[in-house]
Amino acid sequence: MQILKFGGKSLANGEGLRTVLSIITGKVGQRQPIAVVVSARDKATDQLEAMLEKASQGGDISADFQAFKEYQTAGEDIDFSEEFSILQKIFDGVFLLGNYNDKIKDNTLAQGEVLSAKFITHLLTKQGIKAEFVDSRHFYTTDSFFGNAQLIEDTSRRNTIQYFTQISSEVVPIVTGFIAANVHGQTTTLGRNGSNYSASLLANFLDAEELQNYTHVDGIFTANPELVPDAKIIQQLSFEEANELANFGTSILHAKTIIPLLEKKIPLRILNTFKAQEQGTLICEEGTSTGGIRAISVLEDYALVILEGRGLLGKVGVDARIFRSLADAKISVSIISQGSSERGIGFLVANKEAQKAKQALEKEFETDVYNQDVSKVRVVEDVGVISIVGQNLADFDKPYNALIRNQITPLLINNSATGKNVSVVIYKKDLPKAVNVIHGEIFEISKRINLAIFGRGTVGNTLIEQIFEARTDILKRRNINLQIIAIASSKELLFNHRGITPKQYAFFTEQAHPYAFNQFITLVQQHHLENLIAIDVTASKTFVEHYLSLVKNGFDLVSANKIANTIDYTFYKKLRETLAQYKKQYLYETNVGAGLPLIDTIKLLHHSGENITRIKGIFSGTLSFLFNTYSASNAPFSQILQRAIDSGYTEPDPREDLCGNDVGRKLLILARELDLENEFSEVSIENLIPETLRSGSREEFLSRLQEFDPIYQKIKDNAPKGTVLRYVGDLHGDLSQTQTAHLNVQLVSVPENSALGQVKGADSIFEIYTESYGENPIVIQGAGAGAAVTARGVFGDILRIIGNK
Ligand code: ASP
Ligand code: MG
Repeated sequence: MQILKFGGKSLANGEGLRTVLSIITGKVGQRQPIAVVVSARDKATDQLEAMLEKASQGGDISADFQAFKEYQTAGEDIDFSEEFSILQKIFDGVFLLGNYNDKIKDNTLAQGEVLSAKFITHLLTKQGIKAEFVDSRHFYTTDSFFGNAQLIEDTSRRNTIQYFTQISSEVVPIVTGFIAANVHGQTTTLGRNGSNYSASLLANFLDAEELQNYTHVDGIFTANPELVPDAKIIQQLSFEEANELANFGTSILHAKTIIPLLEKKIPLRILNTFKAQEQGTLICEEGTSTGGIRAISVLEDYALVILEGRGLLGKVGVDARIFRSLADAKISVSIISQGSSERGIGFLVANKEAQKAKQALEKEFETDVYNQDVSKVRVVEDVGVISIVGQNLADFDKPYNALIRNQITPLLINNSATGKNVSVVIYKKDLPKAVNVIHGEIFEISKRINLAIFGRGTVGNTLIEQIFEARTDILKRRNINLQIIAIASSKELLFNHRGITPKQYAFFTEQAHPYAFNQFITLVQQHHLENLIAIDVTASKTFVEHYLSLVKNGFDLVSANKIANTIDYTFYKKLRETLAQYKKQYLYETNVGAGLPLIDTIKLLHHSGENITRIKGIFSGTLSFLFNTYSASNAPFSQILQRAIDSGYTEPDPREDLCGNDVGRKLLILARELDLENEFSEVSIENLIPETLRSGSREEFLSRLQEFDPIYQKIKDNAPKGTVLRYVGDLHGDLSQTQTAHLNVQLVSVPENSALGQVKGADSIFEIYTESYGENPIVIQGAGAGAAVTARGVFGDILRIIGNK
């Protein structure tokens, strides 16, 4: 025999009811022996409870009751006079008395299940099916703990078996869930959601082969899908695993439901009435093949109460006093945690009882406070609990680290003594983000990385294209879901918390809105976004003002912009301190030598203890091109410069390259990598622009390029034979002894056949001299400029950050 149980929402008028009837008739058609257990229909239980309460407060419930009757009858020709008159009498009495007890309440709520079972019986009979209304109060016997009665098992089993032997095998019994009777025949109930328990008891007593629980959900999920969009259905669970879940608030499993099934190894299938084709979740003897499920449950609306004091150390009976005083105040305590030092005890109570708990404890510990054994009772309101069922504390470091990286610091961590599960108490406001972060970590569902890109210049645009192109591949190969949630120019922002699509980006102008930076931060917070990386591909001198705020709001940083690393050293240090404090990373490989792995190499050498003694090289691709070409040809300087301009090698105003400041900045960045505290003003830079051309408009400058020619011709003529001109950055000095280095940027002549002399095209070259390599520097050479290589380099930094996560 199969037991079919239908929940209230499945039995609601309309689609639910129709589907339930067709499920039952379908089974009957297949000659499958079944018994059906039903809940009250739709919201009947809640409505009955509400009417009872309203009546007790002297309210007029006639309209509510009328609506209730109409809904339950649903236009059918069915006789509910008995149930309606019981209810009418109760409501009248309670109205007069202004009060009711649990016994009256049970009798009231019970009518919901009676009406439901009678109604289904009626409809089936109308369709020519032999169905029989079965009132479970005839055979489920309980104690007299109204509202949550305990079953007397032996009696109930015997009575049930006997009752059902009298029902012919052709008849479908439609049994009331939830309700029972005490030995005096008075109505009791098995606790809210108790119909599930009723059904598993019936399955046990009648030795059913399977219990099918039809609900309005698809099954048991790895987490509440309303909170975690990535949550997945768990296809199969063992009884023990299901029991763990039930204890942690998975609401479709009554805490007692599993035991009767476990006892006889009867499989339970949780199905969605409204999705007949789906398999749902099967709970049976074998669990998940992977050795234990893991699922996450979330409880809200708690407060953390902490009793602190040095005098608690080693004192006997403190815990007992805490729990006795709370029990006396009828406050139930959930998670408890005690530091091993016994200096403080923390535990959770319902939010609304927090102040009451505090008062109870303050009263209980009044003299201890006076003696200074207890320093204070503290309450942290609005906390929530995330429980990870099936989680070993030993393997909790990954999800834990992920929380910290996402700016969520647990207030308390607790692992249960029995079973495998870890509970984390955090502020309620952090729950949505935290549960997604943990879920992503433990189920290794593609990790979602949220990128915000600032700057829509050539590098920015190229980067965005590269990301769009590489996304699918990264998802497939590395299981990383790279989303661009924001693209911003200096004035406008395009934001999509689900990820901007290439199509949406194509319409940037139409879709973007003017914004202030704070609005961007607010958006990120509103959507509880995790794993954030901000990318600065602007050339802005002011955007760096937002770096600290980005870090504090959970962003790692990637930057192609040199400003943050070259403004005053105080800021440089402050930024690094903030990064360390918030455990965030900041990568800027493209600041020097575009995509070449220069900074990374220097960092590695420096941090591994290798003494770097000098760094020398051609730092600017533009100036590299200029002097490589000029040295090798007889054309005048202005002509070569014009060619560089026309090929797009220079900044719009070439003076920005020629003044040497950019090279100076790069040199400074490298110096600071070596923990040297130089300022930009200390870099000695040879300006390549003749004094007469330094001021004035760009247009004017561009029209007077010939003025370069005599100067550079002279330099070329004066250079020794066999040498070429190179614009070289040089970092040197007694680096192990001082806090600063000598930083020079100048035009020099170097031997044609030296490393620097052989550089071609627009290549950059860097020579890193170290103590152990002596006279043979480590040389890094290659394309050191250009939007595509820079964008690649930025992308590389992004991937590196993700890799470290
Ligand atoms: N009708 C009862 C309730 O809503 C029992 C049940 O549906 O399981 O709690
Ligand atoms: Mg529910």
